[in-house]
Amino acid sequence: MQDNVEWAEVTDSSWTTKFHREEDDLRIRFTGPCPRCEHLTSTDVPRLIPGTPVLRGEVEEFTMFCGCGHPHPNHPDGDNSCGAYWLFEAEL
Ligand SMILES: [Zn+2]
Ligand SMILES: [Zn+2]
Repeated sequence: MQDNVEWAEVTDSSWTTKFHREEDDLRIRFTGPCPRCEHLTSTDVPRLIPGTPVLRGEVEEFTMFCGCGHPHPNHPDGDNSCGAYWLFEAEL
């Protein structure tokens, strides 16, 4: 665990992410370590395309944000994460 990683809104295309996928009727949840601070974080994607009754089912690329819940040094008020974001591709 890296509690001393300073908050920064950064990304790096060399990060590799290994996220575990879990789904129910409403959403797909991806859980895994943040590639920057290594704390556990998770992202929920609704199974329906927003505003429609249509299920997803395509491979899509979307942005994940660190939401680790740890107050990294210099984080803005209300943002308990390291500030990292990255692209993630999955079949939704
Ligand atoms: Zn963190
Ligand atoms: Zn992080």
